[in-house]
Amino acid sequence: MTKSNKNTIQEKDAVLIGAGIMSATLGIMLNQILPEASIEVFERLDEVAAESSDAWNNAGTGHSALCELNYTPELADGSVEIKKAINIAEQFEVSKEFWAQLVSKGILKNPSQFIRSVPHMSFVWGDANVNYLRKRYETMKEHHLFKGMEYSEDHQVIKEWIPLVMGGRNDDQAVAATKMDIGTDVNFGALTRCLFEYLKKQPNFKLRLAHEVRDLERLPDGRWKIEVRNSTTKRKRTIIAKFVFIGAGGGALPLLEKSDIKEGKGFGGFPVSGQWLRCTNPEVIAKHEAKVYGKAAVGSPPMSVPHLDTRIIDGKKALLFGPYAGFSTKFLKNGSWLDLPASIKINNIRPMLAAGLDNLKLTKYLIDQVRQSPDDRIEALREYVPTARKEDWELEIAGQRVQVIKKDPVHGGVLEFGTEVVSSADGSISALLGASPGASTSVSIMIKLLQKCFPEQVKGWDDKFKKMIPSYGKSLANDANLATETRRKSSEVLELQQLVEENI
Ligand SMILES: Cc1cc2nc3c(=O)[nH]c(=O)nc-3n(C[C@H](O)[C@H](O)[C@H](O)COP(=O)(O)OP(=O)(O)OC[C@H]3O[C@@H](n4cnc5c(N)ncnc54)[C@H](O)[C@@H]3O)c2cc1C
Repeated sequence: MTKSNKNTIQEKDAVLIGAGIMSATLGIMLNQILPEASIEVFERLDEVAAESSDAWNNAGTGHSALCELNYTPELADGSVEIKKAINIAEQFEVSKEFWAQLVSKGILKNPSQFIRSVPHMSFVWGDANVNYLRKRYETMKEHHLFKGMEYSEDHQVIKEWIPLVMGGRNDDQAVAATKMDIGTDVNFGALTRCLFEYLKKQPNFKLRLAHEVRDLERLPDGRWKIEVRNSTTKRKRTIIAKFVFIGAGGGALPLLEKSDIKEGKGFGGFPVSGQWLRCTNPEVIAKHEAKVYGKAAVGSPPMSVPHLDTRIIDGKKALLFGPYAGFSTKFLKNGSWLDLPASIKINNIRPMLAAGLDNLKLTKYLIDQVRQSPDDRIEALREYVPTARKEDWELEIAGQRVQVIKKDPVHGGVLEFGTEVVSSADGSISALLGASPGASTSVSIMIKLLQKCFPEQVKGWDDKFKKMIPSYGKSLANDANLATETRRKSSEVLELQQLVEENI
Protein backbone atom coordinates (compact mmCIF):
# COMPACT_ATOMS: atom_id res chain seq x y z
CA MET A 1 0.00 0.00 0.00
CA THR A 2 3.01 2.26 0.46
CA LYS A 3 4.59 3.92 -2.56
CA SER A 4 7.21 6.59 -3.20
CA ASN A 5 7.33 9.06 -6.07
CA LYS A 6 10.32 10.94 -7.49
CA ASN A 7 9.85 13.94 -5.17
CA THR A 8 10.42 11.55 -2.23
CA ILE A 9 6.90 12.33 -1.07
CA GLN A 10 5.71 9.14 0.59
CA GLU A 11 2.17 7.97 1.09
CA LYS A 12 1.07 6.18 4.24
CA ASP A 13 -2.21 4.89 5.55
CA ALA A 14 -1.50 6.24 9.02
CA VAL A 15 1.05 8.55 10.60
CA LEU A 16 1.42 8.55 14.39
CA ILE A 17 3.24 11.54 15.88
CA GLY A 18 5.23 10.82 19.05
CA ALA A 19 6.58 7.53 20.39
CA GLY A 20 5.01 7.37 23.85
CA ILE A 21 2.58 4.83 25.30
CA MET A 22 -0.39 6.31 23.40
CA SER A 23 1.08 5.92 19.90
CA ALA A 24 2.49 2.51 20.85
CA THR A 25 -0.98 1.34 21.96
CA LEU A 26 -2.71 2.71 18.87
CA GLY A 27 0.06 1.30 16.64
CA ILE A 28 -0.43 -2.20 18.03
CA MET A 29 -4.23 -1.97 17.71
CA LEU A 30 -4.04 -0.77 14.09
CA ASN A 31 -1.47 -3.45 13.30
CA GLN A 32 -3.71 -6.18 14.77
CA ILE A 33 -6.85 -4.89 13.05
CA LEU A 34 -5.34 -3.91 9.68
CA PRO A 35 -1.99 -5.72 9.30
CA GLU A 36 -1.73 -4.60 5.66
CA ALA A 37 -1.98 -0.86 6.54
CA SER A 38 1.24 1.14 6.24
CA ILE A 39 2.03 3.01 9.47
CA GLU A 40 4.87 5.40 10.19
CA VAL A 41 5.71 6.85 13.60
CA PHE A 42 7.75 10.05 13.98
CA GLU A 43 9.51 10.83 17.25
CA ARG A 44 11.50 14.06 17.74
CA LEU A 45 13.85 12.54 20.35
CA ASP A 46 16.39 9.86 19.56
CA GLU A 47 14.68 7.24 21.73
CA VAL A 48 11.13 6.08 22.39
CA ALA A 49 9.24 6.82 25.63
CA ALA A 50 11.66 9.51 26.82
CA GLU A 51 8.99 12.05 27.80
CA SER A 52 5.98 11.44 30.12
CA SER A 53 5.92 7.69 29.45
CA ASP A 54 9.42 7.15 30.85
CA ALA A 55 9.34 5.34 34.21
CA TRP A 56 11.14 8.13 36.10
CA ASN A 57 8.89 10.83 34.61
CA ASN A 58 5.59 9.43 35.92
CA ALA A 59 4.47 7.70 39.11
CA GLY A 60 3.93 4.30 37.50
CA THR A 61 0.67 3.77 39.34
CA GLY A 62 -1.68 1.42 37.56
CA HIS A 63 -4.55 3.83 38.22
CA SER A 64 -7.51 1.69 39.19
CA ALA A 65 -8.98 3.93 41.90
CA LEU A 66 -7.94 1.52 44.65
CA CYS A 67 -6.08 4.26 46.53
CA GLU A 68 -6.48 7.63 44.76
CA LEU A 69 -8.81 9.74 46.90
CA ASN A 70 -9.36 12.37 44.19
CA TYR A 71 -11.54 9.86 42.29
CA THR A 72 -13.98 9.55 45.21
CA PRO A 73 -15.17 13.03 46.22
CA GLU A 74 -17.24 13.67 49.33
CA LEU A 75 -20.58 15.19 48.32
CA ALA A 76 -22.44 18.01 50.07
CA ASP A 77 -24.73 15.47 51.81
CA GLY A 78 -21.67 13.75 53.30
CA SER A 79 -21.85 10.67 51.07
CA VAL A 80 -18.89 9.51 48.97
CA GLU A 81 -19.36 9.40 45.22
CA ILE A 82 -17.61 6.39 43.59
CA LYS A 83 -18.86 6.71 39.97
CA LYS A 84 -15.53 7.98 38.63
CA ALA A 85 -13.63 5.35 40.64
CA ILE A 86 -15.71 2.55 39.05
CA ASN A 87 -15.08 3.98 35.59
CA ILE A 88 -11.32 4.17 36.11
CA ALA A 89 -11.13 0.72 37.73
CA GLU A 90 -13.00 -0.72 34.75
CA GLN A 91 -10.68 0.97 32.26
CA PHE A 92 -7.59 -0.37 34.01
CA GLU A 93 -9.04 -3.90 33.89
CA VAL A 94 -9.43 -3.41 30.12
CA SER A 95 -5.77 -2.30 29.88
CA LYS A 96 -4.61 -5.40 31.81
CA GLU A 97 -6.80 -7.60 29.60
CA PHE A 98 -5.20 -6.13 26.46
CA TRP A 99 -1.65 -6.51 27.83
CA ALA A 100 -2.43 -10.09 28.93
CA GLN A 101 -3.60 -10.94 25.39
CA LEU A 102 -0.36 -9.48 24.00
CA VAL A 103 1.62 -11.66 26.42
CA SER A 104 -0.41 -14.74 25.43
CA LYS A 105 0.32 -14.00 21.75
CA GLY A 106 4.06 -13.60 22.45
CA ILE A 107 4.00 -9.92 21.38
CA LEU A 108 5.01 -8.94 24.91
CA LYS A 109 7.50 -11.41 26.34
CA ASN A 110 7.99 -10.94 30.03
CA PRO A 111 5.19 -9.24 32.02
CA SER A 112 7.41 -8.56 35.04
CA GLN A 113 9.42 -6.20 32.81
CA PHE A 114 6.53 -3.74 32.85
CA ILE A 115 3.98 -4.65 35.55
CA ARG A 116 4.29 -5.87 39.17
CA SER A 117 1.93 -6.21 42.10
CA VAL A 118 2.37 -3.54 44.76
CA PRO A 119 -0.34 -2.94 47.41
CA HIS A 120 -2.33 0.25 46.83
CA MET A 121 -3.11 2.09 50.06
CA SER A 122 -4.85 5.29 51.13
CA PHE A 123 -3.62 6.88 54.34
CA VAL A 124 -5.12 9.85 56.19
CA TRP A 125 -4.97 11.52 59.58
CA GLY A 126 -7.30 13.83 61.54
CA ASP A 127 -10.93 13.08 62.51
CA ALA A 128 -12.58 14.56 59.41
CA ASN A 129 -10.31 12.64 57.02
CA VAL A 130 -10.71 9.41 59.02
CA ASN A 131 -14.51 9.76 58.79
CA TYR A 132 -14.23 10.35 55.06
CA LEU A 133 -12.01 7.30 54.50
CA ARG A 134 -14.30 5.08 56.58
CA LYS A 135 -17.32 6.18 54.51
CA ARG A 136 -15.37 5.71 51.29
CA TYR A 137 -14.43 2.18 52.32
CA GLU A 138 -18.03 1.31 53.35
CA THR A 139 -19.29 2.48 49.95
CA MET A 140 -16.55 0.94 47.82
CA LYS A 141 -16.43 -2.49 49.41
CA GLU A 142 -19.97 -3.13 48.11
CA HIS A 143 -18.80 -2.93 44.51
CA HIS A 144 -17.24 -6.03 42.97
CA LEU A 145 -14.32 -4.07 41.46
CA PHE A 146 -13.21 -3.09 44.98
CA LYS A 147 -13.85 -6.43 46.73
CA GLY A 148 -10.96 -7.36 48.97
CA MET A 149 -10.28 -3.83 50.21
CA GLU A 150 -9.11 -3.83 53.85
CA TYR A 151 -9.66 -0.95 56.30
CA SER A 152 -8.15 -0.10 59.65
CA GLU A 153 -7.91 2.73 62.18
CA ASP A 154 -5.67 0.66 64.44
CA HIS A 155 -2.08 1.97 64.72
CA GLN A 156 -0.77 -1.54 65.25
CA VAL A 157 -2.45 -2.99 62.13
CA ILE A 158 -1.42 -0.05 59.95
CA LYS A 159 2.13 -0.34 61.32
CA GLU A 160 2.27 -3.92 60.04
CA TRP A 161 1.14 -2.73 56.63
CA ILE A 162 3.40 0.37 56.39
CA PRO A 163 6.05 0.47 59.13
CA LEU A 164 7.89 3.36 57.47
CA VAL A 165 4.78 5.57 57.56
CA MET A 166 3.89 4.66 61.16
CA GLY A 167 7.40 4.69 62.68
CA GLY A 168 7.89 7.74 64.95
CA ARG A 169 4.22 8.77 64.64
CA ASN A 170 2.35 10.19 67.62
CA ASP A 171 0.21 7.38 69.16
CA ASP A 172 -2.64 9.83 69.81
CA GLN A 173 -3.03 10.85 66.19
CA ALA A 174 -6.30 9.62 64.63
CA VAL A 175 -5.27 7.70 61.49
CA ALA A 176 -6.96 5.40 58.99
CA ALA A 177 -5.81 3.37 56.01
CA THR A 178 -7.20 1.11 53.31
CA LYS A 179 -5.20 -1.59 51.55
CA MET A 180 -5.71 -3.46 48.30
CA ASP A 181 -3.10 -6.11 47.59
CA ILE A 182 -3.99 -6.33 43.90
CA GLY A 183 -2.62 -2.84 43.10
CA THR A 184 0.12 -2.52 40.52
CA ASP A 185 3.24 -0.58 39.62
CA VAL A 186 3.59 -0.18 35.88
CA ASN A 187 6.75 0.75 34.00
CA PHE A 188 5.06 2.49 31.08
CA GLY A 189 8.45 3.26 29.53
CA ALA A 190 9.42 -0.42 29.40
CA LEU A 191 5.96 -1.32 28.09
CA THR A 192 6.24 1.29 25.32
CA ARG A 193 9.70 0.04 24.34
CA CYS A 194 8.47 -3.59 24.22
CA LEU A 195 5.51 -2.60 22.02
CA PHE A 196 7.76 -0.69 19.59
CA GLU A 197 10.26 -3.59 19.52
CA TYR A 198 7.46 -5.77 18.16
CA LEU A 199 6.07 -3.13 15.79
CA LYS A 200 9.52 -2.40 14.31
CA LYS A 201 9.67 -5.98 13.06
CA GLN A 202 6.34 -5.74 11.20
CA PRO A 203 6.62 -5.35 7.41
CA ASN A 204 4.39 -2.28 6.99
CA PHE A 205 5.60 -0.40 10.04
CA LYS A 206 8.36 2.24 10.29
CA LEU A 207 9.62 4.05 13.37
CA ARG A 208 11.63 7.23 12.68
CA LEU A 209 13.52 8.54 15.69
CA ALA A 210 15.01 12.06 15.73
CA HIS A 211 12.29 13.16 13.30
CA GLU A 212 10.23 16.15 14.34
CA VAL A 213 6.86 16.86 12.78
CA ARG A 214 6.92 20.56 11.91
CA ASP A 215 3.69 21.14 10.03
CA LEU A 216 0.38 19.59 8.98
CA GLU A 217 -1.92 20.61 6.18
CA ARG A 218 -5.18 19.13 4.96
CA LEU A 219 -5.17 18.44 1.22
CA PRO A 220 -8.26 19.04 -0.95
CA ASP A 221 -8.83 15.25 -1.15
CA GLY A 222 -9.07 15.06 2.68
CA ARG A 223 -5.65 13.46 3.23
CA TRP A 224 -2.90 15.12 5.30
CA LYS A 225 0.43 16.52 4.18
CA ILE A 226 2.94 16.22 7.00
CA GLU A 227 6.28 18.06 7.04
CA VAL A 228 8.96 16.27 9.01
CA ARG A 229 12.55 17.30 9.80
CA ASN A 230 15.33 14.83 10.49
CA SER A 231 17.22 16.46 13.36
CA THR A 232 20.43 14.54 12.59
CA THR A 233 20.73 15.28 8.85
CA LYS A 234 18.52 18.44 8.98
CA ARG A 235 16.78 17.09 5.87
CA LYS A 236 13.05 17.64 5.41
CA ARG A 237 10.55 15.00 4.31
CA THR A 238 6.95 15.17 3.22
CA ILE A 239 4.48 12.41 3.93
CA ILE A 240 0.90 12.16 2.74
CA ALA A 241 -1.35 10.21 5.11
CA LYS A 242 -5.00 9.21 5.16
CA PHE A 243 -5.08 9.23 8.96
CA VAL A 244 -3.00 11.15 11.52
CA PHE A 245 -2.79 10.62 15.28
CA ILE A 246 -1.18 13.45 17.22
CA GLY A 247 0.13 11.48 20.20
CA ALA A 248 2.80 14.05 20.96
CA GLY A 249 2.03 14.39 24.69
CA GLY A 250 2.74 17.98 25.69
CA GLY A 251 3.62 18.68 22.04
CA ALA A 252 0.09 17.80 20.88
CA LEU A 253 -1.53 21.23 21.34
CA PRO A 254 0.86 23.15 18.98
CA LEU A 255 0.38 20.47 16.30
CA LEU A 256 -3.40 20.52 16.73
CA GLU A 257 -3.27 24.29 16.25
CA LYS A 258 -1.22 23.80 13.06
CA SER A 259 -3.78 21.33 11.68
CA ASP A 260 -6.29 24.21 11.75
CA ILE A 261 -9.30 21.91 12.18
CA LYS A 262 -12.33 23.73 13.56
CA GLU A 263 -12.79 21.12 16.32
CA GLY A 264 -9.38 22.15 17.70
CA LYS A 265 -10.20 25.85 18.05
CA GLY A 266 -10.41 27.36 21.51
CA PHE A 267 -8.18 24.77 23.24
CA GLY A 268 -5.32 26.02 25.37
CA GLY A 269 -2.75 24.35 27.57
CA PHE A 270 -1.54 24.99 31.11
CA PRO A 271 1.79 23.32 31.91
CA VAL A 272 2.42 21.91 35.38
CA SER A 273 5.82 20.43 36.04
CA GLY A 274 6.56 17.90 38.74
CA GLN A 275 9.37 16.94 41.09
CA TRP A 276 9.95 13.90 43.32
CA LEU A 277 12.08 13.17 46.31
CA ARG A 278 13.87 9.91 45.52
CA CYS A 279 15.19 7.83 48.40
CA THR A 280 18.87 6.96 48.14
CA ASN A 281 19.16 4.82 51.28
CA PRO A 282 18.66 1.07 50.48
CA GLU A 283 17.68 0.32 54.10
CA VAL A 284 14.81 2.83 53.97
CA ILE A 285 13.72 1.61 50.51
CA ALA A 286 13.61 -1.98 51.79
CA LYS A 287 11.30 -1.00 54.69
CA HIS A 288 8.42 0.08 52.43
CA GLU A 289 6.24 -2.02 50.12
CA ALA A 290 3.19 -0.06 48.93
CA LYS A 291 1.88 2.90 46.99
CA VAL A 292 0.44 5.12 49.71
CA TYR A 293 -1.82 7.94 48.53
CA GLY A 294 -2.90 10.75 50.85
CA LYS A 295 -5.30 13.67 50.59
CA ALA A 296 -4.52 16.65 48.38
CA ALA A 297 -3.92 20.06 49.90
CA VAL A 298 -6.77 22.58 49.46
CA GLY A 299 -6.59 24.23 46.03
CA SER A 300 -4.06 21.80 44.65
CA PRO A 301 -4.63 20.13 41.29
CA PRO A 302 -5.78 16.47 41.57
CA MET A 303 -2.53 15.11 40.13
CA SER A 304 -0.58 16.68 43.01
CA VAL A 305 -2.01 14.28 45.60
CA PRO A 306 1.04 13.33 47.68
CA HIS A 307 2.08 9.70 47.52
CA LEU A 308 4.86 7.53 48.84
CA ASP A 309 5.56 5.03 46.13
CA THR A 310 7.37 1.75 45.96
CA ARG A 311 8.54 1.47 42.35
CA ILE A 312 10.18 -1.39 40.52
CA ILE A 313 12.20 0.06 37.67
CA ASP A 314 14.35 -2.23 35.54
CA GLY A 315 14.04 -4.94 38.20
CA LYS A 316 15.28 -2.63 40.98
CA LYS A 317 13.19 -1.43 43.90
CA ALA A 318 12.95 2.35 44.37
CA LEU A 319 11.07 4.73 46.66
CA LEU A 320 9.66 8.08 45.58
CA PHE A 321 7.69 10.78 47.34
CA GLY A 322 5.82 13.58 45.65
CA PRO A 323 4.95 15.03 43.33
CA TYR A 324 5.78 18.61 44.24
CA ALA A 325 4.23 20.81 41.61
CA GLY A 326 6.18 23.45 39.75
CA PHE A 327 5.60 25.93 36.99
CA SER A 328 7.44 26.01 33.70
CA THR A 329 6.32 27.41 30.38
CA LYS A 330 7.63 24.27 28.62
CA PHE A 331 5.08 21.81 27.22
CA LEU A 332 7.60 18.94 27.14
CA LYS A 333 10.44 18.13 29.55
CA ASN A 334 12.73 18.49 26.51
CA GLY A 335 10.69 21.42 25.21
CA SER A 336 11.20 25.17 24.81
CA TRP A 337 10.46 28.01 27.25
CA LEU A 338 8.49 29.57 24.37
CA ASP A 339 5.98 26.67 24.22
CA LEU A 340 3.31 28.38 26.35
CA PRO A 341 3.50 31.88 24.81
CA ALA A 342 3.62 30.41 21.28
CA SER A 343 0.45 28.40 21.94
CA ILE A 344 -1.64 31.50 22.70
CA LYS A 345 -3.82 32.34 19.69
CA ILE A 346 -6.74 34.68 19.06
CA ASN A 347 -9.17 31.73 19.33
CA ASN A 348 -7.96 30.50 22.75
CA ILE A 349 -6.94 33.69 24.56
CA ARG A 350 -10.43 34.19 26.11
CA PRO A 351 -10.74 30.60 27.46
CA MET A 352 -7.18 30.81 28.80
CA LEU A 353 -7.76 34.09 30.63
CA ALA A 354 -11.11 32.91 32.01
CA ALA A 355 -9.60 29.63 33.24
CA GLY A 356 -6.75 31.58 34.86
CA LEU A 357 -9.17 33.87 36.72
CA ASP A 358 -11.32 30.92 37.83
CA ASN A 359 -8.32 29.03 39.23
CA LEU A 360 -6.70 31.55 41.54
CA LYS A 361 -6.46 28.87 44.27
CA LEU A 362 -4.42 26.74 41.88
CA THR A 363 -2.19 29.70 41.02
CA LYS A 364 -1.59 30.35 44.74
CA TYR A 365 -0.87 26.64 45.28
CA LEU A 366 1.69 26.61 42.44
CA ILE A 367 3.39 29.77 43.71
CA ASP A 368 3.66 28.20 47.19
CA GLN A 369 5.07 24.99 45.70
CA VAL A 370 7.64 26.81 43.57
CA ARG A 371 8.81 28.81 46.61
CA GLN A 372 9.40 25.64 48.69
CA SER A 373 12.90 25.22 50.08
CA PRO A 374 14.57 21.79 50.46
CA ASP A 375 13.62 21.91 54.17
CA ASP A 376 9.97 22.61 53.30
CA ARG A 377 9.97 19.53 51.05
CA ILE A 378 11.38 17.34 53.82
CA GLU A 379 8.70 18.72 56.18
CA ALA A 380 6.02 17.64 53.67
CA LEU A 381 7.67 14.20 53.41
CA ARG A 382 7.73 13.85 57.24
CA GLU A 383 3.91 13.96 57.28
CA TYR A 384 4.18 10.54 55.58
CA VAL A 385 7.57 9.37 56.87
CA PRO A 386 8.02 10.97 60.32
CA THR A 387 11.58 9.62 60.66
CA ALA A 388 12.77 10.88 57.23
CA ARG A 389 16.34 12.25 57.14
CA LYS A 390 17.26 14.90 54.57
CA GLU A 391 20.46 13.09 53.56
CA ASP A 392 18.47 10.01 52.43
CA TRP A 393 16.45 11.86 49.77
CA GLU A 394 17.37 13.56 46.47
CA LEU A 395 15.27 15.87 44.30
CA GLU A 396 14.42 14.59 40.79
CA ILE A 397 12.54 16.28 37.95
CA ALA A 398 9.42 14.41 36.83
CA GLY A 399 7.60 14.69 33.51
CA GLN A 400 5.76 17.73 32.28
CA ARG A 401 1.97 17.74 32.05
CA VAL A 402 -0.10 20.10 29.97
CA GLN A 403 -3.58 20.47 31.42
CA VAL A 404 -6.34 21.18 28.94
CA ILE A 405 -8.10 24.53 28.88
CA LYS A 406 -11.28 24.54 26.83
CA LYS A 407 -14.10 26.87 25.93
CA ASP A 408 -17.03 26.97 28.32
CA PRO A 409 -20.32 28.73 27.56
CA VAL A 410 -20.76 29.92 31.17
CA HIS A 411 -17.23 30.68 32.35
CA GLY A 412 -15.60 31.46 28.99
CA GLY A 413 -12.97 28.80 29.65
CA VAL A 414 -12.34 25.92 32.07
CA LEU A 415 -9.24 24.09 33.18
CA GLU A 416 -9.64 20.31 32.88
CA PHE A 417 -7.57 17.66 34.61
CA GLY A 418 -8.53 14.70 32.42
CA THR A 419 -7.67 13.72 28.88
CA GLU A 420 -9.45 15.00 25.80
CA VAL A 421 -9.51 13.36 22.38
CA VAL A 422 -10.07 16.01 19.71
CA SER A 423 -10.92 14.64 16.24
CA SER A 424 -11.95 16.22 12.95
CA ALA A 425 -15.53 15.53 11.82
CA ASP A 426 -14.30 13.25 9.00
CA GLY A 427 -12.13 11.26 11.47
CA SER A 428 -8.95 11.80 9.41
CA ILE A 429 -7.03 13.39 12.30
CA SER A 430 -7.16 13.00 16.05
CA ALA A 431 -5.15 14.52 18.89
CA LEU A 432 -4.85 13.50 22.51
CA LEU A 433 -4.63 16.40 24.97
CA GLY A 434 -4.21 16.29 28.75
CA ALA A 435 -2.55 13.75 30.98
CA SER A 436 -4.73 12.14 33.60
CA PRO A 437 -5.45 9.31 34.47
CA GLY A 438 -3.25 8.85 31.47
CA ALA A 439 -1.22 5.85 30.58
CA SER A 440 -3.26 3.44 32.73
CA THR A 441 -6.32 4.07 30.61
CA SER A 442 -4.46 4.22 27.26
CA VAL A 443 -6.25 1.11 25.94
CA SER A 444 -9.77 2.45 26.55
CA ILE A 445 -8.75 5.87 25.19
CA MET A 446 -7.51 4.30 21.96
CA ILE A 447 -10.63 2.12 21.55
CA LYS A 448 -12.78 5.27 21.83
CA LEU A 449 -10.51 7.08 19.39
CA LEU A 450 -10.88 4.30 16.80
CA GLN A 451 -14.67 4.28 17.29
CA LYS A 452 -14.77 8.04 16.77
CA CYS A 453 -12.45 8.18 13.74
CA PHE A 454 -13.58 5.00 11.95
CA PRO A 455 -17.31 4.84 12.81
CA GLU A 456 -18.25 2.75 9.76
CA GLN A 457 -15.30 0.33 9.67
CA VAL A 458 -15.40 -0.27 13.43
CA LYS A 459 -18.72 -2.14 13.06
CA GLY A 460 -16.89 -4.85 11.14
CA TRP A 461 -13.98 -4.97 13.61
CA ASP A 462 -15.91 -6.50 16.55
CA ASP A 463 -14.25 -9.91 16.26
CA LYS A 464 -10.80 -8.35 15.97
CA PHE A 465 -11.42 -6.25 19.06
CA LYS A 466 -12.66 -9.32 20.95
CA LYS A 467 -9.42 -11.11 20.11
CA MET A 468 -7.50 -8.23 21.67
CA ILE A 469 -9.93 -7.57 24.55
CA PRO A 470 -12.23 -10.55 25.22
CA SER A 471 -14.67 -8.45 27.31
CA TYR A 472 -15.04 -5.92 24.43
CA GLY A 473 -18.67 -4.71 24.16
CA LYS A 474 -19.53 -5.86 27.70
CA SER A 475 -19.43 -3.98 30.99
CA LEU A 476 -16.95 -5.05 33.65
CA ALA A 477 -18.50 -2.42 35.90
CA ASN A 478 -21.95 -4.04 35.78
CA ASP A 479 -21.16 -7.73 35.34
CA ALA A 480 -19.54 -8.98 38.55
CA ASN A 481 -18.88 -12.54 37.32
CA LEU A 482 -17.30 -11.35 34.09
CA ALA A 483 -15.15 -8.81 35.96
CA THR A 484 -13.95 -11.37 38.50
CA GLU A 485 -13.10 -13.93 35.84
CA THR A 486 -11.42 -11.33 33.60
CA ARG A 487 -9.33 -10.04 36.50
CA ARG A 488 -8.39 -13.60 37.49
CA LYS A 489 -7.23 -14.46 33.96
CA SER A 490 -5.29 -11.21 33.48
CA SER A 491 -3.56 -11.65 36.85
CA GLU A 492 -2.59 -15.21 35.93
CA VAL A 493 -1.03 -14.22 32.59
CA LEU A 494 0.57 -11.03 33.90
CA GLU A 495 1.88 -12.91 36.96
CA LEU A 496 0.09 -10.58 39.38
CA GLN A 497 -1.34 -11.02 42.85
CA GLN A 498 -4.77 -12.74 42.79
CA LEU A 499 -7.54 -11.74 45.19
CA VAL A 500 -7.60 -14.02 48.21
CA GLU A 501 -10.59 -16.45 47.94
CA GLU A 502 -12.51 -15.22 51.02
CA ASN A 503 -12.32 -11.62 49.79
CA ILE A 504 -13.92 -12.31 46.38
C1 LIG B 1 4.51 13.58 36.99
C2 LIG B 1 3.62 12.63 36.26
C3 LIG B 1 3.08 11.52 36.92
C4 LIG B 1 2.23 10.64 36.23
N1 LIG B 1 1.80 9.51 36.87
C5 LIG B 1 1.05 8.61 36.21
C6 LIG B 1 0.67 7.40 36.83
O1 LIG B 1 1.03 7.14 37.98
N2 LIG B 1 -0.09 6.53 36.14
C7 LIG B 1 -0.51 6.79 34.87
O2 LIG B 1 -1.21 5.98 34.30
N3 LIG B 1 -0.15 7.94 34.24
C8 LIG B 1 0.62 8.85 34.87
N4 LIG B 1 1.01 9.99 34.24
C9 LIG B 1 0.49 10.28 32.90
C10 LIG B 1 1.24 9.49 31.84
O3 LIG B 1 2.62 9.59 32.04
C11 LIG B 1 0.84 10.02 30.47
O4 LIG B 1 -0.57 9.99 30.34
C12 LIG B 1 1.41 9.22 29.32
O5 LIG B 1 2.76 8.92 29.49
C13 LIG B 1 1.20 10.01 28.03
O6 LIG B 1 1.70 9.28 26.97
P1 LIG B 1 1.85 9.94 25.55
O7 LIG B 1 2.27 8.88 24.63
O8 LIG B 1 0.61 10.70 25.22
O9 LIG B 1 2.95 11.09 25.76
P2 LIG B 1 4.54 11.03 25.90
O10 LIG B 1 5.02 9.82 26.59
O11 LIG B 1 4.95 12.34 26.46
O12 LIG B 1 5.00 10.89 24.40
C14 LIG B 1 4.84 11.94 23.47
C15 LIG B 1 6.03 11.87 22.53
O13 LIG B 1 5.80 12.79 21.45
C16 LIG B 1 7.06 13.34 21.10
N5 LIG B 1 6.80 14.59 20.35
C17 LIG B 1 6.34 15.77 20.82
N6 LIG B 1 6.22 16.66 19.81
C18 LIG B 1 6.63 16.02 18.69
C19 LIG B 1 6.76 16.42 17.31
N7 LIG B 1 6.42 17.64 16.90
N8 LIG B 1 7.22 15.51 16.40
C20 LIG B 1 7.56 14.24 16.79
N9 LIG B 1 7.47 13.83 18.09
C21 LIG B 1 6.99 14.70 19.01
C22 LIG B 1 7.73 13.56 22.44
O14 LIG B 1 9.14 13.68 22.30
C23 LIG B 1 7.33 12.29 23.20
O15 LIG B 1 8.27 11.26 23.07
C24 LIG B 1 1.88 10.88 34.88
C25 LIG B 1 2.44 11.99 34.22
C26 LIG B 1 3.30 12.84 34.88
C27 LIG B 1 3.91 13.98 34.15
